[in-house]
Amino acid sequence: MKFARYEANGRSPQIGLVVDNELIDLSGVAPSMQAVINLSNEGMAMIAHHANRSQRIPLKDVKLLAPLLPRRNVMCLGKNYADHAREMQTTQDEPVELPKFPVIFTKATTSVSGPTDPIPFDPNVSEKMDYEVELAIIIGKQGKNIPAEQAMKFVFGYTVLNDVTARDLQRQGKQFFKGKSLDGCCPTGPWIVTRDEVPNSHDLEIRCLVNGKDMQASNTRHMIFDIPTTIAYLSRGMTLLPGDIIATGTPDGVGAARTPPQFLRPGDVLTSIVEGVGELRNVVTAV
Ligand code: MG
Repeated sequence: MKFARYEANGRSPQIGLVVDNELIDLSGVAPSMQAVINLSNEGMAMIAHHANRSQRIPLKDVKLLAPLLPRRNVMCLGKNYADHAREMQTTQDEPVELPKFPVIFTKATTSVSGPTDPIPFDPNVSEKMDYEVELAIIIGKQGKNIPAEQAMKFVFGYTVLNDVTARDLQRQGKQFFKGKSLDGCCPTGPWIVTRDEVPNSHDLEIRCLVNGKDMQASNTRHMIFDIPTTIAYLSRGMTLLPGDIIATGTPDGVGAARTPPQFLRPGDVLTSIVEGVGELRNVVTAV
C-alpha cells in the first residue's frame, strides 16, 4: 500500500491511500500517519475494506505533503556508499578510508518538508547548498537490540528523501547537525510505500537530477551497511520507535565533490527518484 498525507480544498492535512493516480481519503479511519503506522494487521484490513467503498480523488487535485512529521530527529547514515565516501574524502584531501561502523548523524524535525515544497535559499545563511538523494526507511514497531535477521520486520515502509546539506555549515564544526538541519532541507515523499510492495530494497535504482540533468545515478545495492545491519547497529542499547525515519545514505555525484563544485542556485529544479518508491520535485527558492 502507499500512504500519503495531503491537502485539498483548503482543509487541514488528511491521510490517504494512493491507488494508481487516485487517492482514497482515510481521515475517518486514520487521523495521522503515525496512527497508520501504529495499526495492527486487523487495522490494515479495515483500511482495505474502507478503501473499496470510498470515493476517490484524482491525485492531481491535491497537494501532497511530507508523508510523516517525525516525533524526533531523522537519523541518517553518512558515507554509506563507497563511491560517495571516496569522492568526499578526495575533495577534502583526506585519506580515503571506508567507515568500519555506520556513521550516524541527525536532521532536525523542523527540516522535514514535502515532495514539492521549495528548498529555501538564503545566501546570508549558506551559499553552498548541496543535494543527496537517499532511500529512507520508516520504522513500524518499537524495538531494542534487534538482531539483523529480524530487522526487516521492524520496517513499516519506504520513502524518498533528499538530505539537502549546507556544506559550509556542515564543515564549520565537528558535528554535521547544523549544516544538515536548515528549514526545508529534508524533502520527503511523495508517500510511504509499505515494505511488502518493495520486495528487494537493496536493488533499487537511485537518481538525483538538477534541471533535468543526471547528477547522481546508482543502485541501493551499493550501500556499505545494508538496512538490517543499520537497524541492528542503531537499536543496540537504543530503542527505535514506530515512526522513526532513517535515511540510508547517498551515492556519489554530489555537487561539493564536482570539479568545479556545483552547488544549488535559486531556480534550480531538484528531482530525487528511488525506483519503486517515488519521485520528489523541489525548486530551490530564494527567501
Ligand atoms: Mg546524506
